[in-house]
Amino acid sequence: MSAPRGGSSEPAGAWEAVIGLEIHVQLRTDRKLFCADSTRFGDAPNANVCPVCLGLPGALPVLNREAVELAVRAALAFGCEIHETSIFARKNYFYPDLPKGYQISQLERPLATGGQFTVDGRDGKAGAAVRIRRIHMEEDAGKSLHDRFPRATAVDLNRTGTPLIELVSEPDLRSPEDTRAYLQQVKQVLEYLDVSDCNMEEGSLRVDANVSVRPVGSEELGTKTEVKNMNSFSGVERAIRCELVRQQELLSRGGRVEHMTLLWDEVRGEVRPMRTKEESHDYRYFPDPDLPPLVLLPAMVERIRSELPELPANRRARFREEYGLPAYDSEVLTSSRALADYFEEVVGGVDDAKQASNWVMGPVMATLKERAWAPEEYPVPPPTLARVIQLVQGGTVSTSVGRDLLKKVIETGRSPDEIVEGEGLAQVRDEGQLEGWVDEILAAHPDEVSRFKGGEAKLQGYFMGLIMKASRGKADPGEVVRLLAAKLRR
Ligand code: ADP
Ligand code: MG
Repeated sequence: MSAPRGGSSEPAGAWEAVIGLEIHVQLRTDRKLFCADSTRFGDAPNANVCPVCLGLPGALPVLNREAVELAVRAALAFGCEIHETSIFARKNYFYPDLPKGYQISQLERPLATGGQFTVDGRDGKAGAAVRIRRIHMEEDAGKSLHDRFPRATAVDLNRTGTPLIELVSEPDLRSPEDTRAYLQQVKQVLEYLDVSDCNMEEGSLRVDANVSVRPVGSEELGTKTEVKNMNSFSGVERAIRCELVRQQELLSRGGRVEHMTLLWDEVRGEVRPMRTKEESHDYRYFPDPDLPPLVLLPAMVERIRSELPELPANRRARFREEYGLPAYDSEVLTSSRALADYFEEVVGGVDDAKQASNWVMGPVMATLKERAWAPEEYPVPPPTLARVIQLVQGGTVSTSVGRDLLKKVIETGRSPDEIVEGEGLAQVRDEGQLEGWVDEILAAHPDEVSRFKGGEAKLQGYFMGLIMKASRGKADPGEVVRLLAAKLRR
């Protein structure tokens, strides 16, 4: 459409994507936001309801302090300004799973505004910079179940009143891939903060994506549509990509994007209109008369600030600098706070951070995957892994025996030294014993020996394998190589 700006390498008529996310995050509290009902997932339908969350006449909401603290913690981590006074407002609409006829949220005076989040790009470089418009608190609605009974909708109100924060970005994202990276890293921050379990399958983290396009070089925002309620990274990325294509095609044909709400159909891989602006709601927000303004004491905010953990981006940078690890290692090791903690405790017991990283990223993570364990469930205490690494580095056991040793520690709960001692696993360097294995193998394979001497150098590996096997992995490989070379030269 419009000509690109001078110097731009974009072809004429190219479009730029503009994306802003609204992320709903369930706070990690046992109780609902305004009553004492449990927030446990998976309980029998409608087991956790009371007059407050059902909106029965005369019932009064009482704010959950823990939820407020978690919301403040999140807002601080995203660099927001926390407002001393915020106001809970009623967002009025009718829906079968909303018994009160309104949702308590915050509109004009939210908990926090004006934050900032920089996505970490590849190789430790900075990625997209995203301004956070606001973080406010609200309660969740119930759940309508359309697949439970034939031709009928069931309503489960256990979710009603569950504490959420909504984290709203400015329209600063420019591609589906960046949006996905942003979302993944936001989730990681929330997990580090312990603000939410972020379980996307259980709906603890849900995303509305606002999408528009504009000609490259234009400063004006195009008309946006909103794809509602997605709960997977790939869903968000695919839905946005799909919607961008739809809008670009429409505009390229001279059409206009209509402001509307869309639903992402994961199965068909398409977006479908839900409602248009014309029929959209006027929520008639007004301050909830049952709730006084939320006033936060500065001392409380400062206490929460002082208790903030190190955030993932800082930790990644520190792993690169303090331990000299490659960006890739730093990214993998900080993928969860528990894994990063584990690694740091292992490093404390060995002098080579890269070795510690290799062991955690290799055998430890392989076992986590194999057993479907979370990092916090890994049963080998960090000093024990550090001891295994020391035994390998000091040459007491080979790397492969070290890996087996780690498995045996998990199976038996015994210490690495006990197992090495008890099973005689220590690497053999005794010249006489090593020669015994080497001679045995060479004597048993005269043909291969002559082929080797005739120039088939790759048979060296074959002999190595057999000798290591004969020694049940205990022969010091370096010594075997030396002996083998000496003997085959003759
Ligand atoms: P609404 O009034 O429809 O809720 P808002 O202006 O409050 O819209 O913004 C809601 C979300 O939509 C925010 O995350 C914001 O960044 C994003 N957004 C706003 N305008 C656009 C646009 N033109 N294109 C893409 N995203 C947008
Ligand atoms: Mg919106």
